[in-house]
Amino acid sequence: MSSSLEKDVKTACEQVNRDRTRLMDIVREIQARHGCVCNEAMDSIAAELSIPRVEVESTVSFYAFLSETPKGKIVIRLCDDIVDRMQGVGGVAKVFEEELGIKFGETTSDGNITLQHAPCIGMCDQAPAALVNDVVVTRLSSDKARDIVKILRETGDPAKLITRFGDGNNAHPLVRAMVDNNVRKRGEVIFPHGLNPNAGLEKALPMTPQEVIRDINAARLRGRGGAGFPTGMKWNFTRSAEGEDKYVICNADEGEPGTFKDRAILTQRADLVFSGMTIAGYAIGAKNGIMYLRGEYAYLQKYLEDLLAKRREAGLLGKNVCGKEGFDFDIRIQMGAGAYVCGEETALISSCEGLRGDPKTRPPFPAQKGYCGNPTVVNNVETFCCVTRIIENGAAWFHGLGSKTSAGYKVLSISGDCAAPGVYEYPFGVKISQILQDVGAEDTMAIQVGGPSGQIIGKEDFDRAIDFDDLATGGSLIIFNSSRDVIGIAEYFMEFFIEESCGYCTPCRVGNTLLKKGLEKIQEGRGEPQDLEYLQQLGETIKVASRCGLGQTSSNPVLTSLKNFRSVYEAKVKPEEHGFNPDFDISAALSDAEAVADRKSMIY
Ligand code: SF4
Repeated sequence: MSSSLEKDVKTACEQVNRDRTRLMDIVREIQARHGCVCNEAMDSIAAELSIPRVEVESTVSFYAFLSETPKGKIVIRLCDDIVDRMQGVGGVAKVFEEELGIKFGETTSDGNITLQHAPCIGMCDQAPAALVNDVVVTRLSSDKARDIVKILRETGDPAKLITRFGDGNNAHPLVRAMVDNNVRKRGEVIFPHGLNPNAGLEKALPMTPQEVIRDINAARLRGRGGAGFPTGMKWNFTRSAEGEDKYVICNADEGEPGTFKDRAILTQRADLVFSGMTIAGYAIGAKNGIMYLRGEYAYLQKYLEDLLAKRREAGLLGKNVCGKEGFDFDIRIQMGAGAYVCGEETALISSCEGLRGDPKTRPPFPAQKGYCGNPTVVNNVETFCCVTRIIENGAAWFHGLGSKTSAGYKVLSISGDCAAPGVYEYPFGVKISQILQDVGAEDTMAIQVGGPSGQIIGKEDFDRAIDFDDLATGGSLIIFNSSRDVIGIAEYFMEFFIEESCGYCTPCRVGNTLLKKGLEKIQEGRGEPQDLEYLQQLGETIKVASRCGLGQTSSNPVLTSLKNFRSVYEAKVKPEEHGFNPDFDISAALSDAEAVADRKSMIY
């Protein structure tokens, strides 16, 4: 092993006090410095942390941003999600291949540039987009792709690709990104002008923790991640769970294609999020908070770390927060490394512990046994913002916003076939038809509500509302006009889930592949009417037999498109052309063979 690698491993381990749970930080550091975490590095990390080498290897092999074999000094990750495909990423990909003289998955012969696809980098409102190391490049075209290769060849520096800064804090010296916030509609909770992000925290600390939870309950706040679990109830469970050491985790790992609203919140409202996490820490009796930031948003890391440092200086974090005797609380940022499944809260906890992002079996729930076996609250970015605003303005204020059954506002990421893709903050109860009008969508055929794990709806549902009791969503709407192919859309989403499944359980690992094969068969004109029933049954089985939220929702694109676009499927299946006999009796067919062998077949 080279002396520089040995030295870097030692330093990376020392920086986290040889804490095994910080393995993600260590391997990310080595990956960044050496282009891979090679065998020697894994041996050395295992020795430094006194853990079996297989544990290091298991983590390294799990995440898309980590690699056991060398990658180029520069890695271009071209986003390949469905919106990027609709915006012409195929042409951009071709130019990258031609200009670099390599295919996707390969590295140039000089070892300088690796070309890869990424499933979603959170830039659907400015697609096609790519990550070049940690630098985000947006609104790509064939010409821009040529320029990118030329600049990288000449300078070897991805930072030179930044030709302009986006709005707001995207131009901050610690961000300096071409990303646009694209906040096109401001509501009363997250994006109003002139709010004080710490007002809620200052009001919370004179209250008792029980009073804080009471107000969150009275406001009827439900988690904004999609599942909609009552936040106050979750906090109560965690507060009353056994264990002195409690944790607050912020899920900043939005990874579903079409989702990017947390990007805008983290860029413009990070202090509101940190205030909410601190209030949660006070309410449940925690000393430590972790923000799990998706690897694709690494360009925000320094800015967020700086905000945390400023909050410590201002007494908003650390010992006796805001002068509150006995309330000590701090927050660290845990970077992810490109694994969609880590958006599932138990997988996210595994990742925070330095493990593969494998979901855990529930119960026990995180509120009972979460991070390192301790009671843990996991809420998402938007939920923590709501917490701060509720305590600032009172439960009645929040309760009075939105619809009868869903309190407050919802921030939506809207992309696809529309004139004004971006981030919109609406009160709950807003109709889909209103949204389509606001975003300039014409000739809309379908909308994917809630990302791939949500549902695809058609025209007859456009009068429905964004609401926990109607169209519930974590916040993503992808719009498709009538030129799009609904079965092709479902096929793409199955491709996504096949790629992102952790592979632990068979229904998810195998079932989704079978669903995709079924869709392919229909698309190729080989489908039979009974295939639709097969897809339905298989999809329902995957839902109930999978272990975690990913598998339990992965068949939704197929099931909801079958339900809402049945006629499209039916038009593609033609029994008479194939001569298929649906009443084939396998027992009867085997009877002669059984008689000859004098044995009974086990096939029924
Ligand atoms: Fe892994 Fe899928 Fe099973 Fe979840 S459902 S544990 S992602 S294989």
